[in-house]
Amino acid sequence: LVSLKNVNKHFGDLHVLRDINLQVGRGEVVVVIGPSGSGKSTLCRAINRLETIDDGEIAIDGKVLPAEGKALAKLRADVGMVFQSFNLFAHKSILQNVTLGPIKVRGMKGAEAKELAMSLLTRVGVDNQAQKLPAQLSGGQQQRVAIARALAMQPKVMLFDEPTSALDPEMINEVLDAMVSLAKEGMTMIVVTHEMGFARRAADRVIFMADGQIMEEATPEEFFTNPRSDRAKEFLGKIL
Ligand code: ATP
Ligand code: MG
Repeated sequence: LVSLKNVNKHFGDLHVLRDINLQVGRGEVVVVIGPSGSGKSTLCRAINRLETIDDGEIAIDGKVLPAEGKALAKLRADVGMVFQSFNLFAHKSILQNVTLGPIKVRGMKGAEAKELAMSLLTRVGVDNQAQKLPAQLSGGQQQRVAIARALAMQPKVMLFDEPTSALDPEMINEVLDAMVSLAKEGMTMIVVTHEMGFARRAADRVIFMADGQIMEEATPEEFFTNPRSDRAKEFLGKIL
């Protein structure tokens, strides 16, 4: 469903993505971990073209991402993204935050969008907050709204970039639980996280990145109990 072939990206002299090759099948959940600055966020941003690439190819569902125009907007709508900071629209209600995309981008009718939004808010357990503003919700609740908002676009793949790292510890699990449910329902997911609990519960594969390269690819079990490279061992030593 997602295919990256020999993807390279530089920021000036910095070679931030080096020959990335990655195939993610439909329904597969891939966790990406690695040290700060290894290129994880850039990888996510490149996949939905928030970032350009220098060479290589990125395809979603067989379609090579175009660089511009309507086709880009359409393909981008197929890729849901959830960031560390929730980025909700501060002056719109929770419900409006979720209905806006489907109405504007998917051309959905208001009533239909509302129905969809309420079902998604229910799914992530914040339907009782629908009329509030984002600032009136806890971080964990806001992040679950951000997940519902991304899902409202009916994406083919969901990208998560450290979705729990800005949250207080007691709110991390409510967000991870929502993500685990999503994974179990068959959503294709690429998740940058250091939450090993999530990786063990939901990931089919773990990818370890360092210096812009994919250094290791393994099942969570293999990776956490028996990392192959010294870089991975060192990294796990720090976060475990
Ligand atoms: P973290 O774990 O801290 O989030 P990361 O693995 O997500 O790190 P990236 O954010 O992808 O890392 O950054 C990779 C490298 O590219 C870093 O050295 C970063 O400083 C650099 N970088 C990222 N964005 C830009 C930019 N817009 N311009 C220049 N350099 C950038
Ligand atoms: Mg990052």
